Parts: sequence; structure tokens; C-alpha cells
Amino acid sequence: MSGRPIVTCKCCGQMGEHQGRGLIKGCYGRHHYRGTLDQFPARPIAPPWIPRRRDAVAKFARYGELIAEGARPSRIRWELSASQRQLERWAAAWNYLFGGGETA
Ligand SMILES: [Zn+2]
Repeated sequence: MSGRPIVTCKCCGQMGEHQGRGLIKGCYGRHHYRGTLDQFPARPIAPPWIPRRRDAVAKFARYGELIAEGARPSRIRWELSASQRQLERWAAAWNYLFGGGETA
């Protein structure tokens, strides 16, 4: 498995590979360097939306496969006919269920 979960960065709002604390690589590195990572909690306080209906679960599983393949967000949206918001919900649920975690 390569490829980290794709998240919408809590700092700049750009989508990218999750580095930790809901931040993509550039922002995580910057906040780490400046000592300001504490602004961003390590884990969501409340569980995000999790897919439960059968068709939603199937799409979520396919989302996971695409993430594992390193698919770009634009391809995932196209293949799953998903809205930007839907992609964010999947990313949040994926991070919550399977981690992304701290690496720095
Ligand atoms: Zn950012």
C-alpha cells in the first residue's frame, strides 16, 4: 500500500496527501517548523460521517481502492461520480477509520 489518504487541508483548504493532523505535507512541515502544530488537534473530536447504506459502502470501498492506487482526486470524483463534498466526506471517514496518523 502506498498513497496516503487524500484530505482537504485544515490550514489552506487545498486537497492533497494527508501528512498529519488534517494537514497536507507543505502545511504540516511549515507548522512543525514553526512549532504551531498544536493549533491542529491530532484526531477529530467527533466521528465524521461514516457510510452505512449498502450502495454507499460499496462506493466507499472503491474509494479506498483508488486511494491505495494513488489515484488523483479528479479521477476519483470522475469514476465515482462524486461531488467535491462527497470526496471530503469519504476522506474524513477514511482517515477516521484507518488513520493517517503522525509521521513527523
Ligand atoms: Zn494547507
